[in-house]
Parts: sequence; C-alpha cells; structure tokens
Amino acid sequence: MKNPQPPINREKENKMTHYIGIDLGTTNCAVAVLNAQGEPDIVHNKDDGQNTTPSVIQFFDKSTYDVGMESYKSLGMDDVFGRFKRYMGTDKSYKTTFGERFTPENLSALLLKKLREDTEHGLDGTISEAVVTIPANFANDARESTLAAAKKAGLNVKNIINEPTAAALYYSFYAGRDLNGTYMVYDLGGGTFDVSVIKIRGKKVDIIATEGVKELGGDDFDKALQQLVADKYQQQTGSRLNQDDYDLIEAESDKKSLSIRVSKKIPLHSNGGRATIEITRQQFVDSIADLIKQTELLCEKVLSESAKSIGDIQEIFLVGGSTRMPCIIDSIKRLFNKDPINFVNPDEVVALGAAFYAAYKSDGKNLNTLQKLAIADVQIAEITSKFFGTSAHNRSTNTSVNTIIINKGESIPCTKTRRYFTRYDNQTSINLDVTECDNAETDLKYVNTIWQGEMDLPSGRPKGCPQDVTFSYDENQVMHCKFSDVESGRTTEIDLTMGKKSDDKFSTDKFISH
Ligand code: AMP
Repeated sequence: MKNPQPPINREKENKMTHYIGIDLGTTNCAVAVLNAQGEPDIVHNKDDGQNTTPSVIQFFDKSTYDVGMESYKSLGMDDVFGRFKRYMGTDKSYKTTFGERFTPENLSALLLKKLREDTEHGLDGTISEAVVTIPANFANDARESTLAAAKKAGLNVKNIINEPTAAALYYSFYAGRDLNGTYMVYDLGGGTFDVSVIKIRGKKVDIIATEGVKELGGDDFDKALQQLVADKYQQQTGSRLNQDDYDLIEAESDKKSLSIRVSKKIPLHSNGGRATIEITRQQFVDSIADLIKQTELLCEKVLSESAKSIGDIQEIFLVGGSTRMPCIIDSIKRLFNKDPINFVNPDEVVALGAAFYAAYKSDGKNLNTLQKLAIADVQIAEITSKFFGTSAHNRSTNTSVNTIIINKGESIPCTKTRRYFTRYDNQTSINLDVTECDNAETDLKYVNTIWQGEMDLPSGRPKGCPQDVTFSYDENQVMHCKFSDVESGRTTEIDLTMGKKSDDKFSTDKFISH
C-alpha cells in the first residue's frame, strides 16, 4: 500500500511567485509587489533601503554600472545619465567616455535590470509577471520602446498600464469607502505633469480624458530656484554665481525644505564673493507662478475635453513628488474649491496600483485566495491618448493629407474602419502608412508617421476601387492595422506591437550592476 501523500501547501508553493508593478519614472522609480494578503507593498531597493530609486545611471567602465542615489549625486559628471525617459522611442545617443553608446531604450533596460535584481533580492524569489507603467500621453514608439527595454532587462512584461490609471486603481482600493463618481488624478512629478478625469465606481475605473505636458515638473522648479538664488547673489555681492557653486542638486534640496519651512538661508561663496542668501517660500512661489498657471490651464483643458465642470469633480487624487509643495496644494484648492486627497506617499502610488494590475492581468493560476479576492471586482476601461490615421490624396486640393481613423479619447478596445479609393486607372500599387498625432491634424507636417509600407494591387481595373483600412486598438494599447483591397481580398496586416523597436543587438547580460 502506498504511503498517503502529504497535502500540498498551496500558499507555500505560491510563495516564490511574485506579481510586481514598476513605476519607471523620469526622475525616480518605484517597485511594488502584491503580497500574500492581497495588498500591494513597496519593495525597498537593495543599496540604500529606500522606497524609490533615482532613474540615474553611472558607468564606471565598459561593463559596470550603478543605478540610484549615488549616481544621482554625480549627475552632471561624465558617464552619468538621467531623465532619458523623456526621449524613449527616439534614437538619441548617450555616449560614455569608454566609447559605448546607449539609446534611451537601452539605458532603461539597464535601469530595469537593476530594479529586477533588487526586487528579486528583496523578495527572495523570481518575478513571475511585471507590469511597467507609462505616461498616458506616451507615443506609440515610446510604448514599444518601454516594452522592448523590459524584455532586454529579463522581465516578463506582458502588460503596460498608464500611470494615472494605476494611481486611480490604487485610490479605488484604499479610499476607505466605495468611490462612485468623477475624480481627477493630478500627477506632478520631476519631469512631467499629467492630469486625468476618471470615472470610478467601486473597483471599476474608466478613464474619460487625459492630458499632459512633457516638460513641466520638479526639474523646472529646481532651475527656477537656482536662478532666483543666482539673481539675489549678484544683487548682494555684485558677483556672478557659478552654477557649480550652487548646482541643481542643492537647489532641489532647498526646494524640498521650502515645502516645510517658510524661508531658507543659503550660505554661498563664488567668484570671490561671499553671502548668505535668504529665500522665502513666497519668493520661490512667485518665481514659478507661470508654471503653476500652466498646470491650472491644463486642468481646465482636461475638464473641457471630458465635458465636465469643476463642480463635477468629487475628489482630486495626488500623484508625484512635486504635489508635496504647499503652493501646488493651494493652486488645486483655489481651482477646485476643495482639498486634494493624499493618503499615501505620492511617489509610490503608481507602483502600488500597478502591482494590483499585474495580478489582475495574470491568468490567476498562481494567485492565492486573498490575492484573487483583492482583484475580483476590478474592471478597467482605458482610452486612446492620440489620434491615429493614414495619409490619403485629397482630390479638391490635389495634395496628400492626414485622415483620422481612431480618435483621441476613444474607449479601448476599439476597431474602426474607413474606406478609401484608388486614384487612377490601372493603379497596381498603393502606399500605406499609419500616422499618430495629438490634435486632429490634416497637415502631414504635424503628424508622426509610425509605419510605412506598400501593397500590390491587381492590374487592369478602373480608378475608384475601394480600399478599407481598419485599425484595432487592443487593451494592451497595441494597435493592429489592416489594409484591404475590397474586390480582390488582398490585405496587408501589421501589429504595431512589442519588440518591434528592439531589433538592435543590445544585451544587458554583459553589464554588471554595482
Ligand atoms: P516623482 O517624479 O514623482 O518621483 O517626483 C520627483 C520630484 O518630486 C522631484 O522633482 C522632487 O524634487 C520632487 N519632490 C519630492 N519631494 C518633494 C518635496 N517635499 N517638496 C517639493 N518637491 C518634492
């Protein structure tokens, strides 16, 4: 007779399988895991035990590098790179003194590799599935590049999620009450400002509209403070203040202290002069008044796009480190006539929400009962953040123009078809393309062509043969495009999908992180 088998301890078996959310930020990254109780926890980084890791990479030679606070302190020196997320999806080149060149995608791959290693170390296990967050208004190229970077970092990333959606998801869990109505996610980080209007009902999150500015955030506030200090120094001493004698790292640190104190004394000496400069919080706020005004205008823009008024917004949820600034809270209060909500570290909320999303998008096989329960009622409806179309010939102007197939703000998933016609008799080929733009442009000068191709057509036909173009935008924000010659049934299909950009041979294997 066989010995009875001990019962399988499923909880134990699942212990080593982790679902993680990664907020791959312009200035800082954060990683969260859905714990065995079904709650998201921040994973501390290995080197300094912090909840967030500066998105800065420093190379020591051809194959060793460091990521995080120590590298951040060296910003401005050779071989130290930061803020590369702003250029994701482009061919911008970062060159080291050791002769290596990196694209923003490959720097992000190294950053993600370090985050993966830190997380595996912190969790004592491997990562089953990860979700990486991206800004809502990231272009298709930047999305593809993010997915490609994750793959190069050895992460199993099947899904990405927009940062405001991840934040809304988190707030829907932890508001302490069932949310029901229209809310705003206000995200002011180090490099970018994004604002979204979101409908939340329980754990059902519907994005209604989202807007962003690529270059507005804490970095700009640091520069404004640096300038203010330099102006005062010149007034007091008659000498110019060298940037090296009061750099952006010092300005950032003083900016943070002005979030707590109402004034700050800064002792300085530069160019033979010496002075203690006093900056009041109000002086600093005055120096960034135009930038604050821009944030307010963007809030109004997103409200108008979503056909909502200020009174329709029940609560404003804060995301991003710069929302710690009292002047930002004041600006929101002035605009919305209410206090914004901030019950969690604003720089962690995106990663925490993404950890829920990683579990929600998994096949569920490795989730324990509590984790399954946590994500049971989650439902998410995203929208497109750009217009997508194709170029076509306009007969009345006899020019090529951009035509829109999928509108910005369309609920995802969506499929749209638009019919076109051949231009002349015996047309035996047709140029194909896919365009992307922020506004409903007709002028091709202002659109980004994200794919181009050509399709052969049967010969001997008169002009005016119908051509259907169908774009399907799926839940993972990947677009499938189909160009069909209706009569012959010939089609060309392409997926603007993950990995397309990663045809370079870059491998993170040869790089060792400190
Ligand atoms: P994030 O991109 O969300 O990580 O936010 C980073 C930005 O938040 C940086 O520009 C920081 O200087 C800024 N930040 C963080 N804490 C504070 C604070 N207490 N006061 C002002 N800005 C802050």
